[in-house]
Amino acid sequence: MSEPAKLGAVPPGGTPRRDPWPAILEGLRGRCPACGKGRMFRAYLKVADACPSCGQELHHHRADDAPPYFTILVVGHVVGALILLVEELWPESPIWLHALVWPTLVLVLSLWLLPLFKGALVAYQWALRMHGFEAEGRAAASALRTSRT
Ligand SMILES: [Zn+2]
Repeated sequence: MSEPAKLGAVPPGGTPRRDPWPAILEGLRGRCPACGKGRMFRAYLKVADACPSCGQELHHHRADDAPPYFTILVVGHVVGALILLVEELWPESPIWLHALVWPTLVLVLSLWLLPLFKGALVAYQWALRMHGFEAEGRAAASALRTSRT
């Protein structure tokens, strides 16, 4: 059993550290964290097995429940604050308007944010060599050591 990766630590095998921020920005754009050219998703929320541009394997990700968690966190705070603001500024607002606007806003924001958060989280896992991305780094470092000898 391996120890969990520490943030900023040099991974075993001496593989080079990846800067998470450029990878996260590419992930937010739905692009491959390795090359920034290939699309990360083969469908709305389905991560491609590998980047079509550089071949970087992406199926190792374990985003799991984190993208919906962050989506609910952000959408809940934004829409909740807006509901309170509208109630404060316009207390006689018709109920039908609330029934129409808030669910629509929640739906649109959630569908927009889900792939952004998922892309960013997959890219973050890639940058930190988490899960299967770590073994991939070890294989590359091993191949590099072998080629030097
Ligand atoms: Zn790529």
